Amino acid sequence: MASGNRILKEEKVFKDPVHRYIHIRDELIWELVGTKEFQRLRRIRQLGTTFLTFHGAEHTRFNHSLGVYEIMRRIIEVFQGRPNWNEEERLLCLSAALLHDIGHGPFSHSFEKVFHTDHEWWTREIIAGDTEVNQKLKRVGDDFPQKVADVIEKTYQNKLVVSMISSQIDADRMDYLQRDAFYTGVSYGHFDMERILRVMRPMEDQAVIKYTGMHAVEDYIMSRYQMYWQVYFHPVTRSAEVILSKILHRVKVLHHRGYDFRQKPGHFTGFFEGNLSLEGYLELDESVTLYYFQMWQKEEDEILRDLCQRFMNRRLFKYVEFDHNFVMREWTRLQELFLKAEIDPDYYLVVDSSSDLPYDFYRPGEEEERMPIHLLMPEGKLRELSRESDVVEAISGKKRTDHKLYFPAELLETPGHEEEKQQIKDILLHPEGKTETEHPDG
Ligand code: ZN
Repeated sequence: MASGNRILKEEKVFKDPVHRYIHIRDELIWELVGTKEFQRLRRIRQLGTTFLTFHGAEHTRFNHSLGVYEIMRRIIEVFQGRPNWNEEERLLCLSAALLHDIGHGPFSHSFEKVFHTDHEWWTREIIAGDTEVNQKLKRVGDDFPQKVADVIEKTYQNKLVVSMISSQIDADRMDYLQRDAFYTGVSYGHFDMERILRVMRPMEDQAVIKYTGMHAVEDYIMSRYQMYWQVYFHPVTRSAEVILSKILHRVKVLHHRGYDFRQKPGHFTGFFEGNLSLEGYLELDESVTLYYFQMWQKEEDEILRDLCQRFMNRRLFKYVEFDHNFVMREWTRLQELFLKAEIDPDYYLVVDSSSDLPYDFYRPGEEEERMPIHLLMPEGKLRELSRESDVVEAISGKKRTDHKLYFPAELLETPGHEEEKQQIKDILLHPEGKTETEHPDG
């Protein structure tokens, strides 16, 4: 390989609270970390609005990306010298691990929903476009940026390489589960990664786990299951997410109406007009976004002003957990009552659903993009994990969904339209619509 494969004279070491140390020996990796597109990830939180629920969750995509790189580096150490492993793909794996989240923007989830954009598309733009990342990657070879993008998009021809970064047990998940547990301070999310790494083996088209490591993998799957429900889908985080989406939605509506903003939404207009440049996208991070929210607290428009004040001062919507059918039945009536009470239901009455599949085995024809986990049995055969593990079998392919209704509870207590407000409360607090307990299968 060309100059991109140079080894640094002295190893660079980052202190990391999750993996203790992150080791960089390749000049390319060190230079990628120094690009402005990678440094931008310092200004994008890993868990979006979760910091409003778990105040420790201020860690960024920068921390996480370095962590995924480090896990990938250690997987490769285990693979080196084994059959099916091609040492020439080492730098490709490390670069893809480091850059896999490079296209994320501020509060990605809400932005993607409101503006119909997606971070995968921006990832490709950053890797292939006129960027510092692209310049560094090209020094390895003209087709190297393309290969890195293919690995991240899971279209690269060597599926072993793809599985190391996106399967149901990959460097990405192993980092974020541990990192998110560490920074939120919850007691879930921990598992024996050292053990899993020691028993990972390269096969022709995927990384597999030696049979002896099955219990460590069970632990990993359970920790993932718990993290989803205790952290990722936390209803308070969702409430903040709902308000954030509504702010973006409101700004978009006002922009199209020709509303005269005190603080013009400069950085966002590319989204509204559908002509956002790569340069414009890269300028947008969470510091910039929060600056606008700060300023919009003083806007003339009452809804935008209120929503921004709610987000900045953490005055979130309340929620009730509802039976989906009940909400659908009462939906029109609820909207009418909100309108009569002069509370705009477009912004102040929101249904939000979360669902997760804790582990899924392979079902041909379905669009589950993550590969299942295979165990390498003593006689050399492969077996899909849920066929061997009772614990995993019990939760396999079971999708759990819950529906919540968000609304500003304190607005229902203000003077005026008391009758309608009472009727709204009667519906929202109606025992028939409430779900009794958790409903694992949705
Ligand atoms: Zn990631």
